[in-house]
Amino acid sequence: MFSCWISRQYWGFSTPTGRIAHLIRGSLSRTLVLSSQRRTPEFSSFVARTNTCGELRSSHLGQEVTLCGWIQYRRQNIFLVLRDFHGLVQVVIPQEESAASVKKILCEAPVESVVQVSGTVISRPPGQENPKMPTGEIEVKVKTAELLNSCKKLPFEIKDFVKKTEALRLQYRYLDLRSFQMQYNLRLRSQMVMKMREYLCNLHGFVDIETPTLFKRTPGGAKEFVIPSREPGKFYCLPQSPQQFKQLLMVGGLDRYFQVARCYRDEGSRPDRQPEFTQIDIEMSFVDQTGIRSLIEGLLQYSWPNDKDPLVVPFPSMTFVEALASYGTDKPDTRFGMKIIDISDMFRNTEVEFLQDALSKPQGAVKAICISEGAKYLKRKDIESIRKFAADHFNQEVLPVFPKASRNWNTPVAQSILEEQRSGLIRLMEIQEDDVVLLTAGEHKKACSVLGKLRLECADLLEARGLVLRDPALFSFLWVVDFPLFLPKEENPGELESAHHPFTAPHPSDLQLLYTEPEKVRSQHYDLVLNGSEIGGGSIRIHDAELQRYILATLLKEDVKLLSHLLQALGFGAPPHGGIALGLDRLICLVTGAPSIRDVIAFPKSFRGHDLMSSAPESLPPEELKPYHIQVSWPADSEA
Ligand code: ASP
Repeated sequence: MFSCWISRQYWGFSTPTGRIAHLIRGSLSRTLVLSSQRRTPEFSSFVARTNTCGELRSSHLGQEVTLCGWIQYRRQNIFLVLRDFHGLVQVVIPQEESAASVKKILCEAPVESVVQVSGTVISRPPGQENPKMPTGEIEVKVKTAELLNSCKKLPFEIKDFVKKTEALRLQYRYLDLRSFQMQYNLRLRSQMVMKMREYLCNLHGFVDIETPTLFKRTPGGAKEFVIPSREPGKFYCLPQSPQQFKQLLMVGGLDRYFQVARCYRDEGSRPDRQPEFTQIDIEMSFVDQTGIRSLIEGLLQYSWPNDKDPLVVPFPSMTFVEALASYGTDKPDTRFGMKIIDISDMFRNTEVEFLQDALSKPQGAVKAICISEGAKYLKRKDIESIRKFAADHFNQEVLPVFPKASRNWNTPVAQSILEEQRSGLIRLMEIQEDDVVLLTAGEHKKACSVLGKLRLECADLLEARGLVLRDPALFSFLWVVDFPLFLPKEENPGELESAHHPFTAPHPSDLQLLYTEPEKVRSQHYDLVLNGSEIGGGSIRIHDAELQRYILATLLKEDVKLLSHLLQALGFGAPPHGGIALGLDRLICLVTGAPSIRDVIAFPKSFRGHDLMSSAPESLPPEELKPYHIQVSWPADSEA
């Protein structure tokens, strides 16, 4: 039930009212504690309080308690609602003359001031209980109070339902963290990580090892952050992942490594990316793909929050080729259908010119998706914007076809296609009343990519109109396997780059192709996809130094000197090994239903990679750069 509140809130089905906010706030730690299936932690050890605000119940009646918390609100100078991470409790402000100083403190302290109160737990007068509040049967009759710190005028109210811009939230992140939602996200993250550690170390003998963050450039892959050193012209790089170290740990006989690893990629922020992010990084010796997949399925099952439906394993898997053909992407969202169908065969003898033209080219195909009830839910302008999107972003013509719909918006071309192929289309695509078919023709990959994107766009549009295609309570995991080892470089398609990273082993049955048609070699790389987001990826590695050298130098044209340490290590009896990394931020983001990974990171960077609270990155005066032998060459239009 708890998760439903959260997802509804995020999916915009309802705004949390004060009542809901109370309910969920009150049950925050209870749910999290219950879900850990362990003894309730001792929240009040070592500190001044005797209890937390959120834990008091009728069973505490008559007890003398000391609470510390923030003033959530005050009513008529008679009641205070006090909040801590555990929940809310009502405090009765004493009205007697003899307690004037206590009354003064509690009545004058601004909202969000932090106070310590001591008093007795009493039951609320009959009729004044608040069933919506977990502590609603009791209140605390205060005897003494201390203002621990007063709160100045706040930049925003600490209420989940009060809308504030993300920039403001990030500027005052420490205040934003007081919100129910951030508390929930970070605590759930901590619990999942704890369980992952337990599973890996205690149940499966993994060793938690820290690897350096000051490292050197790794060829291929993402752009890395550069760190100057005091040696002229020499730089460290922040690692994009502990990839080389974890492989070297296998050479070192550590056998099973894991780390909650901070990684860095200088790629700018996107909703699901941050310049610094966290991976659950894993490597094992003597393992194959099946072993890694089972390990991860077990890990997720074990750490999965108990307030969600248990995960069913093994997760389904799909080849890269199939993912691309049916969903137009290597990270298919399998929560809903609308798969891409190849209808080329139906049009081999077509009279329609643009189809004829597409089919005459190498890899030419006619593809379509069927949008169920599209004619009912989509407006004409939606269809137009879908077509425009395909034209603008993919330079690809997309034709809407209404094979059965009562509303006939068919263009003359669509009409002539229907005259030829109506019944075949209806049969092959199982078309129902009011369905719309989006049809495109062209090179196989391009046609699939555009339809894959439109599939998601249409799902968004249909959901905006009230259809539920992707159940927010559903977690649809999928392994994508058999990736190609190499892809043509984007900027220079004549050259190859690694589809995963250059340490990934080729598929054993394709080994010979490495020397003849390397672009056809499949790899031992696997990705884990959840609800259409890639949340993990890994591979079985190359443990043969000569094969690694050949791939780096001959096929990828990389400077092998940069990796001489690794190549050397592989030559000293490196065991066969493989691993994976799970993107922790993305995983928690999906589990909590948060709109962005920034909502599951305590102190994230902004969209532009800035820390809006401290204003990092900052300029440094030239004298501070001198020891690093660095001079800034300011762009002409810069203000500095
Ligand atoms: N290091 C890889 C990554 O960050 C994961 C792996 O291959 O284990 O994507």
